[in-house]
Amino acid sequence: MNNVIQALVVDDEKHIRLAVSRVIGRMGCVVQEAEDGEKALNIIRQQDVQLVFLDLKMPGLDGLEVQKRIRELDESILVIIITGYATLETAIEAMKHGAYDFIPKPFSVDQLRVITKRALDWIEMSRERKRLAEEKHRTLFDLATEKSRIKTIVESLPNGVLVTNRDGLVVLMNKAARNYLGLEKILEMGQPLEHYVQNQELCAFIASQQNVLPQKGQPPDFDFQNAQGKYLLVKVRSIVGEAGEYLGVVVILVDVTAIKKLDQLKSEFVAKVSHELRSPLATIHEQMAFVIQDMLEHKPSDLDQEILSRAKDKTRGLLSLVEDLLDLSKLEAGLAYQDVQMVAVDDLLSKHCAFLLSQAKEKGQALELSVDSDLPPVHADPKALESVFSNLITNAIKYTPEGGKIRVRARSDGKKVLVEVQDTGFGIDPKDQKRIFERFYRVKDEKTRFITGTGLGLAIVKGILDDLGGEISMKSAPGQGSTFIVSLTAHH
Ligand code: ADP
Repeated sequence: MNNVIQALVVDDEKHIRLAVSRVIGRMGCVVQEAEDGEKALNIIRQQDVQLVFLDLKMPGLDGLEVQKRIRELDESILVIIITGYATLETAIEAMKHGAYDFIPKPFSVDQLRVITKRALDWIEMSRERKRLAEEKHRTLFDLATEKSRIKTIVESLPNGVLVTNRDGLVVLMNKAARNYLGLEKILEMGQPLEHYVQNQELCAFIASQQNVLPQKGQPPDFDFQNAQGKYLLVKVRSIVGEAGEYLGVVVILVDVTAIKKLDQLKSEFVAKVSHELRSPLATIHEQMAFVIQDMLEHKPSDLDQEILSRAKDKTRGLLSLVEDLLDLSKLEAGLAYQDVQMVAVDDLLSKHCAFLLSQAKEKGQALELSVDSDLPPVHADPKALESVFSNLITNAIKYTPEGGKIRVRARSDGKKVLVEVQDTGFGIDPKDQKRIFERFYRVKDEKTRFITGTGLGLAIVKGILDDLGGEISMKSAPGQGSTFIVSLTAHH
């Protein structure tokens, strides 16, 4: 806004116009002059005039009428009436209709200055008032935007947030909190906790944390399972004002279902391992006790020798179980197979098949290897690949009856190196196919009953391939053999 005050002097007497113009011009106003009412109103319509000196007695439009029209155009324009004694009454009338002041003719320069000064101060003050009002409006607007922004942020937090005031009434609840508490729609705030929270124990826990100022140490937490089966951890913290006074509490609800599930899986795993170790150890223990008894009674028999050799087999089984478990845990910790290098899969397979051939021969099985020429290498730890193929080929040998056939084939489609291990063995029922990669899962039927194993081999294979970015799939049907297909990224 331009700070210079624009003034207009309306008088039919030229010398008065000039005198007023000169004085107020020196006081800093930009002055225009008009000799009658019509001209004055025209100027006011076109320009931003703030102060008008108006003679009441003019030919044409009468001063009072001009004042009325100025007010209609812009109420904020200050009008100072110039009047002769004869029109004093009319001047008073004009004042009643909102003129700011009047100055009787003849007037001295000082009188004019005093009156003008007052008017200018008034205009200055109203400008300041207007500026402050605008600023206040703007600040309030900013505050309102800030408030709605914070509200939006709290509403979209992934954790549940619920706030109570010092009287224990709920004053805020975000979307996640509503979800966790099973409240479908947005409810009116301002009710006690019980109105929104069904779980009595949770209500009691939050209530126990109300009206307490924060103390040293970790405040207690609470966890519960909600209606949708989610595990929620609840933390309550007091809200304290600037003067240290208690204002209410903020309740945070965190979904800890994933951590809880992981915890359960860990416990299940420990339970399974303990079980797998316990039964063979118990048997070995009994068998030892039996043999010792015989030795004490000095009547060792042939049976004792057989018992001892069975116990020895069992300890070998236990050893391989522990070795597999160690492999798995190393794999999961990311500590296994870090010696990554370029590996020629064909060389690795021929060495390995030659090594396993004796096992196959023992069962009268044929073990064949065919490899496409120009097989691209892969990028991996060779020991990891050995472990994958050794598990698959050993399984093929184990789960194929005597006289069967095992074929190992390696080929490439350019992008991938595919290794197939195919057998003419028992095959796997579709219901078991999904589960054989789980830890400890073993198919138990007539044919597999006497085959020893840990149930960890395929879990290790899967773990290694996940690590390498490879994949494994299988095709099998009971009585028709199985084919396991490993796919690895070719390296060029
Ligand atoms: P393990 O052989 O020690 O039992 P694995 O994890 O290697 O453990 O295999 C899990 C189960 O999958 C085996 O117990 C067996 O029932 C089945 N399985 C694996 N490979 C074959 C196969 N080639 N033919 C038939 N069944 C198989």
